[in-house]
Amino acid sequence: MFDNLSNRLDSVFKKLKGHGKLTEKNIEDGLKEVRMALLEADVHYKVVKKFIGDIKERSLGQEVTKSLTPGQQVIKIVNDELTKLMGDSHEELKLSGTLPIPVMLVGLQGSGKTTTAGKLAVLLRKRGRKPYLVPADVYRPAAIDQLKKLGVQLDVPVFPSDAKADPVQICQKALVAGQKEGCDTLLIDTAGRLHVDEELMSELCRIRDKVKPSDILLVADAMTGQDAVNIAKSFNDTLDIGGVILTKMDGDARGGAALSIKSVTGKPIKFIGVGEKLNELEPFHPDRMASSILGMGDVLTFIEKAQSVVDEEKAAELEKKLRKSQFTLEDFRDQMVQIRKMGSLTDLINMIPGFSKNKQLKNLEVDEHELVRIEAIINSMTPLERRQHTIINGSRRKRIARGSGTSVQDVNRLLKNYTQVMKMIKKISKGGMRGFGRGMLP
Ligand code: GDP
Repeated sequence: MFDNLSNRLDSVFKKLKGHGKLTEKNIEDGLKEVRMALLEADVHYKVVKKFIGDIKERSLGQEVTKSLTPGQQVIKIVNDELTKLMGDSHEELKLSGTLPIPVMLVGLQGSGKTTTAGKLAVLLRKRGRKPYLVPADVYRPAAIDQLKKLGVQLDVPVFPSDAKADPVQICQKALVAGQKEGCDTLLIDTAGRLHVDEELMSELCRIRDKVKPSDILLVADAMTGQDAVNIAKSFNDTLDIGGVILTKMDGDARGGAALSIKSVTGKPIKFIGVGEKLNELEPFHPDRMASSILGMGDVLTFIEKAQSVVDEEKAAELEKKLRKSQFTLEDFRDQMVQIRKMGSLTDLINMIPGFSKNKQLKNLEVDEHELVRIEAIINSMTPLERRQHTIINGSRRKRIARGSGTSVQDVNRLLKNYTQVMKMIKKISKGGMRGFGRGMLP
């Protein structure tokens, strides 16, 4: 998903991060590349235009936060705007009204509608609901059989639709039958065509007007890019859909449909299909998707957490020490205390952009109890030992272990971790990641 866009944006941001201060020209150049990257990802040109305009305005008019470099601030803004573009937060299926609650699935042939009906049944059942599958595509008898087979496979009841019956009648009868079966949610798999045509639309309108579905979901194939956006627009104009399920996201490296649909139709993407298997349907979270496009873990949460705990002056002082390699065990301990204030260390490491993929750091996972032990060990050292860890020989290690109620192995491990972290920090602060982890790491 979004591989090309991720790579392109990554290289734009690498360039931006190289600058200590960003000028209007730097931002302009960066945004030009972001624009190209979005167009190449097949995002609707009008959407791109507005997106770039919004980012530019925010980037130039922003208030400078000391804990982030200008490059990172631009990334944060792009992240925010990408999230907004895709609809801000996850929108759930609308399931309200008298039972059984009908939900209509609409879309063109081959978009993955029938498969998605099965996937939704699985998802709803996991949430404790009792789904009832209703095949209402009478033009393609194979579609009815396909859903019946899916029902058997999933052990979900399927309405025995008659291919000669009128789809509206099928749905009305299915409402009664579903209730008798003790089901609470009707998933109606409507007919598909190769193209949007009036006959199909009028049939869907008839079903909608009689059945009064609680939600109407358009199933669209992400791999068709802007076609999916246009299809969503036509279906929405006629049917006033409740949202979109974008299928085949697993095969879509560009992502144009996912990025344009909300903006063009005003309707949210509620779920995405990420594979052919029946458990491969996921709720769509714009914020998580934006972060994953930017390849940065949960940047936003990280930045927010960091901002709320880290004293910026202290962080600057710490950075100076790091640069001069004067980061002592005492500083290490203070950082540990800060990290504890921020929550779980593992979560934190995973949130730091680029760090979650770093094998060395993964091996460094320290559990929460360990943090307490580390603090005790460092507290048992003399001030000189804390400043010059190299003097801590065997007998000093024994003394420290005794004093802190730990073992010599614990002390050894801490010293090893400390030197490893020192190495990592040096590498990272040279490599342009400056600031993201600033003041955060032990
Ligand atoms: P319908 O004509 O709209 O009912 O489409 P189908 O449900 O028959 O699906 C068409 C094809 O798309 C089938 O081969 C499905 O396995 C495949 N498909 C559906 N959803 C996904 C998905 O999320 N990922 C992938 N890779 N394939 C999918």
